[in-house]
Amino acid sequence: MAKTILVTGGAGYIGSHTVLQLLLGGFSTVVVDNLDNSSEIAIDRVRELAGDFGRNLSFHKIDLRDKPALEKLFSATKFDAVIHFAGLKAVGESVQKPLLYYNNNIVGTITLLEVMAAHGCKKIVFSSSATVYGWPKVVPCTEEFPLVAANPYGRTKLYIEEICRDIYRSDSEWKVILLRYFNPVGAHHSGYIGEDPHGIPNNLMPFVQQVAVGRRPALTVFGNDYNTKDGTGVRDYVHVDDLAHGHIAALNKLEEANIGCEVYNLGTGKGTSVLEMVAAFEKASGKKIPLVIAGRRPGDAEVVYASTDKAERELNWKAKYNIDDMCRDQWNWASKNPYGYGPQDNSS
Ligand code: NAD
Ligand code: UDP
Repeated sequence: MAKTILVTGGAGYIGSHTVLQLLLGGFSTVVVDNLDNSSEIAIDRVRELAGDFGRNLSFHKIDLRDKPALEKLFSATKFDAVIHFAGLKAVGESVQKPLLYYNNNIVGTITLLEVMAAHGCKKIVFSSSATVYGWPKVVPCTEEFPLVAANPYGRTKLYIEEICRDIYRSDSEWKVILLRYFNPVGAHHSGYIGEDPHGIPNNLMPFVQQVAVGRRPALTVFGNDYNTKDGTGVRDYVHVDDLAHGHIAALNKLEEANIGCEVYNLGTGKGTSVLEMVAAFEKASGKKIPLVIAGRRPGDAEVVYASTDKAERELNWKAKYNIDDMCRDQWNWASKNPYGYGPQDNSS
């Protein structure tokens, strides 16, 4: 019988791409999302893209902190595992509104874990982040690096990782995989789903994409005096469809005996600078991206990229797509959906 997976935050960017791969992989998928940073149109499009498998998708507009609503869902459906994406993710906003972030991300996760435990569902894949490596002294980052957090958003990731390690220590029936994503970019090759953040984008590629479609005049480059090949910050960009497949690999891993609580980096293992990324996007789109060089963004690391050895070895997962693929797919999505899922500009 098909396995049934609960996906929290499944209407969001990484969630929607993962839900599509789950459906195509034969999983029955239930999405819970409060649509705080997403649109139900993403769910409709995933259903369409999945063809006949689309009937195995259901959506519930629920906030994770609404325990009675979660209880009701778990009473009605037996879940084999949970993939937990739901959370707020804007670093700057987390500095301004720390309690909102602690409440949403941590209380939401604790509520979910409590309801899972009460219903005997003890398998979870959690979206952590390379942000827990802070400002690494050396690269590539391996999973054993010391963990730090530079802001409330990062602390929510760190605390949730610790909570997961604690629940496993307290009850060895839990099977937990913490996936530390590097920098997800790109979109499904159909151009039908992609990233559509509400408000002004914080991340590089959504911002570049909005410049390319004329929604913003120029990209501000945060610092060109880093000790890197061209002075701009270096990151490990990974195609969102590669990440989606990483979640399927993690679900398969959860089926192994005694996996306990394990952590894996999901990245490509390659570092790319801001200017290299812009050049690749200009090539893919044929659009010139005007640049304004500004000072460093407070808290930013210089160079961050992953060691992917552990994921390759133990999850049998390796990213397939390169920067040109990522930019091609990002532009395909952006040019077909210049205002994302909305009919008009909802940004400010
Ligand atoms: P996203 O904002 O597109 O998706 C998150 C989804 O969670 C949204 O649809 C939002 O409406 C929903 N949500 C938030 N709080 C909720 C709550 N209390 N109850 C129900 N739904 C809620 O973000 P994304 O880029 O798809 O990220 C998914 C996860 O991956 C997040 O946990 C994020 O922190 C993590 N992550 C993202 C990145 C990145 O750069 N995109 C990098 C590392 C880790
Ligand atoms: N960046 C930039 N302008 C922007 C957004 C980001 O120059 O408008 C740079 C940022 O300083 C970093 C890289 O792009 O070097 C990736 O930033 P992003 O916020 O996407 O990811 P993170 O820093 O969280 O890894």
